[in-house]
Amino acid sequence: MNCLFCGIVKGEVKGSMVYQDSSVVAFKDINPKAPVHILIVPRKHIATLLDLEPGDRELVGDVFAAASQVARDQGIAENGFRVVANCGPGAGQSVYHIHFHLLGGRHFSWPPG
Ligand code: 5GP
Ligand code: ZN
Repeated sequence: MNCLFCGIVKGEVKGSMVYQDSSVVAFKDINPKAPVHILIVPRKHIATLLDLEPGDRELVGDVFAAASQVARDQGIAENGFRVVANCGPGAGQSVYHIHFHLLGGRHFSWPPG
């Protein structure tokens, strides 16, 4: 299997890592859509949110714990930030290894486009 984010998780592909623990890594998005744009990525390969299994529940909790930690570390916690996961082509998912966009450092409108 040739997965870009599995490569980054294993350190084979260069990524700008900002956080790592035993279940998730976080690195800067190569094409940032906000002053702070970090991808929170489980180490385990899961293609889409639809492929989550009951045993992955703790992992999803780990993702959000990492997101709040990284938001604090990046200085965007106080003003507010957004965490987004795109699932499938209609939502614009382009990398099929689940990831959560942590965006901050500017105002975000609602609803998103
Ligand atoms: P999606 O479109 O699947 O929700 O998000 C994929 C994200 O991965 C995009 O925001 C894109 O800029 C980012 N991305 C794609 N390739 C790379 C890469 O090689 N390195 C990094 N750091 N980000 C990437
Ligand atoms: Zn993968």
